[in-house]
Amino acid sequence: VLLGQFHNTYLLVQRGDALLLVDQHAAHERILFERYRAQFYAGRPAAERLLLPLTLELSAQNALLLEQYLPQWAQLGFELEAFGRNSFLLRAVPALLAGRDVAGLIGEVLDELALFGKSGRLEEVFNEILERVACHAAIRAGDVLSREEMAALVAQLEGLEIHLYCPHGRPVWVEFPLRELEKRFKRIV
Ligand SMILES: [Zn+2]
Repeated sequence: VLLGQFHNTYLLVQRGDALLLVDQHAAHERILFERYRAQFYAGRPAAERLLLPLTLELSAQNALLLEQYLPQWAQLGFELEAFGRNSFLLRAVPALLAGRDVAGLIGEVLDELALFGKSGRLEEVFNEILERVACHAAIRAGDVLSREEMAALVAQLEGLEIHLYCPHGRPVWVEFPLRELEKRFKRIV
């Protein structure tokens, strides 16, 4: 049961005999990550064509990395095409990224992949992209949410198996059992 929002960042939720503080970004990121990954395993995630292709100018190293993993990007809904020296045209993006800073996201993923070096396994490449997309598409800490948006977020979270952590390993919520609060208020010992 949704009680409210604290500091435009945490949702207050009553669950049984406990009060949960839910990190709205971590929760939404986890929900989107699961949905995007399921779409990926089921075939190809929904993609959205850009009205105008976006030109990406990359460093030589990042251009090489992008070229190397083009089929993986395509499998995740990114339509990219080499366009001259160290440049690419981005024609379509995963639907959940519509309106987000996709060039920035691709740069972040490539910087991360560069750290993996040649030992990067495909699984890690997929995971890195999945995580980064979920993070960029998710609502942020500080976003003002309507009551309906908050309730929808909590309902979606309840629909998932209990995942305590976001893809980055941060907790999605912190739980305060009623007993603990009662002890602190000296109602019980
Ligand atoms: Zn994030």
